[in-house]
Amino acid sequence: MTGNTIESRLEQVRSTLPPDVTLVAISKYHHPDDILSAYHAGQRIFGESREQELALKHSTLPADISWHFIGHLQTNKVRLIAPFISCIQSVDSERLLSEINKRAAQNNRVIDILLEVHVAAETTKSGFAPSDLYKFLDSDLWKGMNAIRIRGIMGMATNTDDTATIHADFQTLRQIYDHLKDKYFNSYPHFDTLSMGMSHDYPIALQHGSNMVRVGTAIFGSPLPH
Ligand SMILES: *Cc1c(COP(=O)(O)O)cnc(C)c1O
Repeated sequence: MTGNTIESRLEQVRSTLPPDVTLVAISKYHHPDDILSAYHAGQRIFGESREQELALKHSTLPADISWHFIGHLQTNKVRLIAPFISCIQSVDSERLLSEINKRAAQNNRVIDILLEVHVAAETTKSGFAPSDLYKFLDSDLWKGMNAIRIRGIMGMATNTDDTATIHADFQTLRQIYDHLKDKYFNSYPHFDTLSMGMSHDYPIALQHGSNMVRVGTAIFGSPLPH
């Protein structure tokens, strides 16, 4: 890690990103004061992984923050975040998508979502298996959901030191993204987001066309266990 303040680390990460890449600062488990430090350094997009923690932070932090949800989202907690969430990156079932659509409509909102795709070796990671994703998109169920906008996909590489595996995982995600854009979202100009890359692997993700990186530890340090 370079620098020893949130501001300097944020600046360091930013300096490595091409201008067309969106930085989501992952603030899960970090204190609101740390989020404010990044906010005062100009960061406006933050990502959280727990519904209650996010709802609390949203209620106390500046209103012009865009919040992204990146964790496993429980269907019965969608209503907690539906009034304000900008983007839900971790959509991995038809049931969840339809609940988000319902709650967005109730709040007179349109919520951006990313389809989470599972390509990593770990079975613990969530996301649609690619074949299930194609099945879901072929079903056309999503086409009637007017309160959500499918913006793209989100994925993670295998957690490993083997860079060849990381390259291969990001390459696979890129191919899935291109395939979806080509086959299902050709006439949807807002389908434009390939979210991949975290603190330790985002430089590799950028090489494979990521245009949204989700960086936590490299900005805020390691989250405290709790
Ligand atoms: C925690 C998390 C991140 C950020 O990871 P860091 O290693 O802290 O940068 C990114 N994406 C998802 C889905 C996460 O859960």
